[in-house]
Amino acid sequence: MKRYHLLSTLLLTAAVNGYSQNTAKPQDTEFYTPVPEVVNPAKTIFSDAPPDAIVLFNGKNLDKWVSSKDPSKPAAWTLSGNYVTVKKGTGNIQTKDVFTDYQLHLEFKIPKEITGKGQARGNSGLFLAANGTGDGGYELQIMDSYNNQTYTNGQAGSIYKQHPPLANANRAPGEWQSYDVAWVAPDFNDDGSLKSPARVTAFLNGVLVQNSFELTGETAYIGKPVYKKHGASPIKLQDHGDPSQPISFRNIWIRNLAQY
Ligand code: MG
Repeated sequence: MKRYHLLSTLLLTAAVNGYSQNTAKPQDTEFYTPVPEVVNPAKTIFSDAPPDAIVLFNGKNLDKWVSSKDPSKPAAWTLSGNYVTVKKGTGNIQTKDVFTDYQLHLEFKIPKEITGKGQARGNSGLFLAANGTGDGGYELQIMDSYNNQTYTNGQAGSIYKQHPPLANANRAPGEWQSYDVAWVAPDFNDDGSLKSPARVTAFLNGVLVQNSFELTGETAYIGKPVYKKHGASPIKLQDHGDPSQPISFRNIWIRNLAQY
């Protein structure tokens, strides 16, 4: 009788665990407070690449980028003027080169005529280390959060579904904006366990939005972030797939950081 009770308890526990996993919802990890304070950024963009920077995109070609779906294929986004625009439906693009710890500068523009709301308004993303070729990696959110409510740990400047930005420093749609990021890659033991977490510091339009934040794993749309062992990784830009107008990028450069 006792044994039967233990067995039924174990079965019940397994069933409840299975149930909770099967019913995990995206909303479980979406938070609406704290609400980052609005800080109007300075008018100018710090932008010039230092001499030791690797220019990832200079407005002329996508030679340093490939399709994330199939890295043997070129990046299929649209070049015009000195910028590149997401070509909806072609998928994410990522760098050919791989990186560990780095400083990165990137500029983006939400279309002036942007429509949609919430996450479906100018959504893209900067994946700070694209683990694998699928949706893996660590996303610094890019979208229009100038006057557009969404969960705060999913607005522009957030580490998506992990940490809201420390301020809302968005510029209006139609204006060029900048990210400056310092990334410290996670480190792993031989058995795959985590040795030290990733850390990110990020400025949106010159305003600090992430201050040496320690990530708890890769970005997850549903459920908790989890680390999976990886080494040096490409950097990825997101083709989000929502129906709003596609956003543009220009002037992307990176500096590998000294190790000591
Ligand atoms: Mg995104």
